[in-house]
This record gives sequence, C-alpha cells and structure tokens, in this order.
Amino acid sequence: MLLATDLDGTFLAGDPENRLKLYRLIVAHPEIDLVFVTGRGLEAVLPLLSDPTIPQPDYIICDVGCTVVHGASQQAIQPLQGEIDELWPGEQVVERALSSFEGLQRQEVPQERRVSYFCDNDLVSEDMLARVSALSCDVLFSAGKYLDILPQGVNKGRTLSRLIEHLGVDPESVLVAGDTLNDLSMYQHEFKGVCVGESEAGLLAATEHQARVLHAGASGCGGILEAFEHFGYLGQMGIEAEIPDYMNRGKSDLVIVYHRLPYEEVIENGELIRRRPKSPNGIIPTLLSFFSDGKAGSWVAWSVDDPDLGPFQTHTEVDTSRYEKLVAARVALSEEDVEIFYKRFSKEAFWPTLHTFWERATFRDDHWQVYLKVNRLFAGRAAEEAAENAVVWIHDYNLWMVPAYLREMRPDLTIAFFHHTYFPSADVFNVLPWRREIIGSLLQCDHIGFHIPRQAENFVDVARGVTPLEVTQKMGCAPRFLTYGCAVGLDEMSTEITVNDRKIGLGAHPVGLDLNRVRTALSDQSVIAQMETLREEFKDVRLILSVERLDFTKGIIEKLQAYERILNEHPELKTKVTLMLICVPAAAGMTIYEELLSQIEQTVGRINGQFAQVGWTPVQFFFRALPFEELVAYYTIADVMWITPLRDGLNLVAKEYIATQGLTQGSGVLVLSEFAGAAAELRGAILANPHHPQDLADTCYYALAISRSEARNRLSEAFEVVCRYDIEYWGREFINEVERRRTTKLNKISAIGHRAA
Ligand code: UDP
Repeated sequence: MLLATDLDGTFLAGDPENRLKLYRLIVAHPEIDLVFVTGRGLEAVLPLLSDPTIPQPDYIICDVGCTVVHGASQQAIQPLQGEIDELWPGEQVVERALSSFEGLQRQEVPQERRVSYFCDNDLVSEDMLARVSALSCDVLFSAGKYLDILPQGVNKGRTLSRLIEHLGVDPESVLVAGDTLNDLSMYQHEFKGVCVGESEAGLLAATEHQARVLHAGASGCGGILEAFEHFGYLGQMGIEAEIPDYMNRGKSDLVIVYHRLPYEEVIENGELIRRRPKSPNGIIPTLLSFFSDGKAGSWVAWSVDDPDLGPFQTHTEVDTSRYEKLVAARVALSEEDVEIFYKRFSKEAFWPTLHTFWERATFRDDHWQVYLKVNRLFAGRAAEEAAENAVVWIHDYNLWMVPAYLREMRPDLTIAFFHHTYFPSADVFNVLPWRREIIGSLLQCDHIGFHIPRQAENFVDVARGVTPLEVTQKMGCAPRFLTYGCAVGLDEMSTEITVNDRKIGLGAHPVGLDLNRVRTALSDQSVIAQMETLREEFKDVRLILSVERLDFTKGIIEKLQAYERILNEHPELKTKVTLMLICVPAAAGMTIYEELLSQIEQTVGRINGQFAQVGWTPVQFFFRALPFEELVAYYTIADVMWITPLRDGLNLVAKEYIATQGLTQGSGVLVLSEFAGAAAELRGAILANPHHPQDLADTCYYALAISRSEARNRLSEAFEVVCRYDIEYWGREFINEVERRRTTKLNKISAIGHRAA
C-alpha cells in the first residue's frame, strides 16, 4: 500500500500512543510506501528527517504540491518537478505584480515555487485575482489569513496523482490522509481517503458524500489507524495489528551505558578473569557509587565475543559485596567490530572533528554502518535492562546514536547523556556527514551534560541548524565559570531547549577529581622515596613539567618551539631550567601519531643539540605511560606545570597537579591553555594561547619569574575549585539534574492521565 499523508494535524498529530503504534507499524512493514504531502517547504520538512522517532518517507510532496522529491536524497523527482517548474513565473515576478497591495506580509517560512503571504480577508479582491491570473498562477486562500500564490493547476492532489502514475502504483492501493481544506485536492482523484478526527468542517462537508472517504473519530495517527482497519489493510495485506512488545521491562532503575566495563577482563590460561581496574580514572568508581545503596542497576559495556572462551556470558556480577544489585550487561562484539567502531572510526572521523581538526578527519560510510550496528546493540541491551521509567545514563561520542534507538524502543525512559570530549560550534561540527542523525539522536535525551558552558552552547548552535528550537531557560555562567577571561569562556548559557514540545535540559558539569586517590598516592612509601630522589636530581634546576597523550590536539610541537624561543630570548635560563616532557603513546598502528612522534623526536633532538651542556639536558623526553602514583611524585616537584593543548574537552592533568601541590602546601604554578575546558574553571592558573608562539613563551617565562607569594595565592585559588568541585560533586550534580527532569516529566504524564480520566 501507499500512504500519502498530510503532516501537521494529521501524521504529526494524535495521542502519543497512537502515533507510536502507527509509526512502528510503518517501520515494521517496509512494503508500505510513505509519502509526506505537506504545505511546509522542503527545508521545514528536513528537521523531521533527523527525528529518529518518525518513519522516513519514500517521497515528499511539499510547498502545497509545488515541490516533489525523493525522501532519502531529497533530490527532485523528474520529470514531475520539471513540469511544475515550467508553470512557475518566478518569485520576483509574483512579488512585483502584488507589490501595490499594502497589507500583504510575506510569511517568514521556507517556500519554493510559490509565494506565501499573510493577508486579511478583505484584501483578496477581484483586482488581486485578476493580477494573479494574468501571471498564469492560482490563488489559494485559507483559514482567513494564509494567501498562497501557486503555479496554475498545481496542488497537493494533482502532484500526488502524477507521482502515483509516474511510479506505476495501483491507485487502488493508495490511502490519502488529511485534516484541512488545504488537503481537499487529494480526495479528488478517486483514492481511498481518511479525514482524521477534528478535521476542518469545510473538508468534512466537501467529502461528506464520497463513499471512499472515511471520517474517522480519532485525531491524527489514531484516525489513520482507523482507516487501516476500515479499508481492511490490517488483515488483507498481512499487516498484523499486533505491535512487537518492546516494553518487556527489565529491573534496573539506573542503567549506565559506558564503553568500558567497570572491571578489567584478562585472559589467564585460556580463561577470562575479571579484576578490579588497576588505576581507575575516578569516573568509574563515582558511577559505581550510585549503586552502593543497594539500588538495582546495570552497567552496559562491550566485550569481545571470543568463541575460544566458550559461550558468551551476557550478564556478570560486578562486586556483590559492595554493589549488591548491580550487574554488568555485556554487549558481544567481534574483534573486527571493536577495531572499526572503537579504534578506527571514532578516532579517525569524530575525534579530530570534535577537536576542531576537521581537515584530519576521514569519513567512511561503511564504518558509519558498523558504528550504527554497535550503537543499536548497546541500545537494545539498555532497553532490556531498564525498569519502567528508569534512568539510562549514556556516555560520550562513541555512543551518540544510542538515544535514537533507545527512545524508539522505550519511550518511558529518562535518557541522560554526558559528553566527555570537546564539542565544537556548528562551523566545525557540520562537517560531519551524519550531523542530522547525530543531533536528531541527542535531541531524544532528557538531559545532556558537557564539561563547560561553551560546549553546551556550541551544541545549541549545532542543533539550531538541524531543527527549530526554542531556548526555554538560560543561566548566567559566573561566578563558577569564566566569562570573558578565556577563549572558552561564556557569560550566559542555555540550560533548557524545547524541540517539538519536548524539553531537553543542558548542563555544564566539569568532571572533577577524586582527591583521595591523590592523597593515597602521596602517602605511598615508594612515592615518597621517589619524590626524594627526584628532589635531589632536580635540586639545581627549575623543573617545567608537561604531561599528555601523544595527540595532535595537545600542541606538543608548539610547546617545544616556545621552549626553544624562551631559551633564545632568556639565555640566563640555560642550565637553570629543564623541561620534562612525559608523553603517553597512542594505540599502535596509527600512522597519524607516528608522524607526530617523529616530529617531536626531531624537535627535542634539535633543542638538545643546540643548547645542551655537560651535566644539563634542556629537554628530557619520556615516551611511555607512567603509573598514576609515579606521576604524582613528578607533580610534587614540578615548579611549573605546562599544559597547553590546542583544544581539550577538560584536562584532568591540570587538576591533578593543582591537587598535588595544594595537598603538599607547594607553590607550583600552572600554565594552562585557554582552549582547555579546565581553563573556564581553574581560576589562578596563568592562561596561555597555544596558537600564539610569543604568548606561549611569555606566559611560561612569567610563571618561572613570579614571586613565591603570588604563586601560592594563585595555587590556593585553583585548589579551592578542585576541592569543591570534585568527582563526587560532578556525579551528584549530574544525577540530581536528571532526577529533577524525570520527576517533572512523570508529574506531567500523570496530570495528563488525570485530565483524560
Ligand atoms: N596519565 C597517567 N599516566 C601518564 C600520563 C597521564 O596515568 O603517564 C593520566 C593522568 O593522570 C590523567 C589522564 O591520564 O588522569 C589524562 O587525562 P586528561 O584529561 O588530562 O587528558 P585526555 O588523555 O583525557 O585527553
């Protein structure tokens, strides 16, 4: 069958349950051709195409019949579009012909091959009709205020009927649906039809005596479902009324969807062994702490399905002594899926783009398909685990498409998302070929968290380019965040947007530190011993420390060049300072990183070759990951911590340094890139612009030169921030916000229920 339906008031209307039922029916039966037939312009239909809850149309007839395109590509269907174009004199000709009619106001909505105005009843005169007719155009005046000038003879019904002919579809298999006079032309071609409940009286009167037109009782999608039943589609065409039961609810009140499991899996003697992560980064224990009160929960993460290890175990316990009712729900992935989804695609397509290095990104559709497949698996597992009205908390860009699949399977859930990486503005994000799908998915969430206001506002910037949205709540960013003081500062952020009547909360929740982890390291005997050794080794030099992963976002080359500049401009520093560069290797086999490594090695070699003296090496380069405890030993003795990424979501190293120095009553100075998320939070740091070589050199020099008292004052300001907004605070603030949204949503649903009763 082919369903040709109007949108507003028809396919987009009706009670939520009927909408869901109809949409699912259509998705489950690809043999149903779907045609949107709408008065909206094509651009105003596009947001619906990025809404994962709405079935995608095979064809779109828009602009009241003047535009006809393929649903998937949105390219014109020829020769039909050509025939319409021939009839259209052009926008400027129409505007000129009607320019003398004062009181005509152009509608500010997308429109093509038609000109739409707002207009009062009395303005539609013989004179106007004559002028339009002289242009060989038609006038369509509706609802006492909408005036459309259209190519002669073109309307929804005629274009639909031409499309049916063009496709060679049997007219008997067509069902048209609408609700206003605007749709009347669709009922004038002998198709079966339905006027959904609450249709305009004029439409009902005009179709009253048409035997093939049903006047349904239920509005919107409910009316279309009635017509399916009435015309016997459900039985005859093998379409069952039964909707698959996705509501087969699980037992978990909180479901964490994180790419990593909350424990490490190692293979010993051909057997899979689980153990507590050796050096958890603080986030995993914080997320686990939500289950310590015996709350029933699931942690969804992937694991490799290795047939050599026997049948895949979907559920495992995490730690029943601490988290009694928490299970790990594992998503089985093949080695190849992991390689593509996790190591290749996310790093090659998304990582560079998110960090504004879009020129480095590569986009492969076959990889996107794997990404979608994996995200669907994650969503399916989360849907099975979650209890009715549960909270599902999804993490990071690897899982961007999970909300889309999950919302469809489980409309009852409260879906929350935390974005752990930087989020760029539309100019950069829109480079992603799949931006509509990604944003359409994220807009299914109830709350989305970012580290800092700038990232949340960038998200709004991107979403605004995908769908109409209204900012329904805003908040001043000061005093918690910097406003005009750094490159990623902002004075005001949106904290709630409304899209299609759905409210989506936005929050700035910078990840904090687990200070106890630093305390534990500081009291470790081997760390204390190491601190002593290091202190002895560096007793005659000022130590500048730099710690980061090998990544082009971290600005390592720029930093080395700035160091070279400092040594040239301030020769008195020779033999008095050492730069220690600790660089953590990236996963093996990534050529992009191999090139960067060789550039770093060359630059380090050049600086040392140029400046080294007996007993003094200007740059010490460590290319390996140090255990956290050892890192803390370095943090204690560094005079200057030099962290200058070109772009960074947050930067935890900066906070770890401040915590270590603060806990040991040090007087170290943090020089931080104003492009790192942490810069918007960490007052007291000396901010640097890593894109400006002179500033990069000057700020580091300044940090070496400041008085001990200024250093201490700066440190205590930053230390206060790190102590107050720790990891505990992060998790609690986020989950409280999600709970607040959930309660509001449930209250609203129950109020509607009461009214209906
Ligand atoms: N880190 C580590 N060993 C090292 C270098 C870094 O354990 O040799 C840790 C560091 O303590 C920090 C994390 O790696 O917790 C890096 O996080 P950050 O937010 O600074 O940067 P990202 O790598 O996430 O971009």
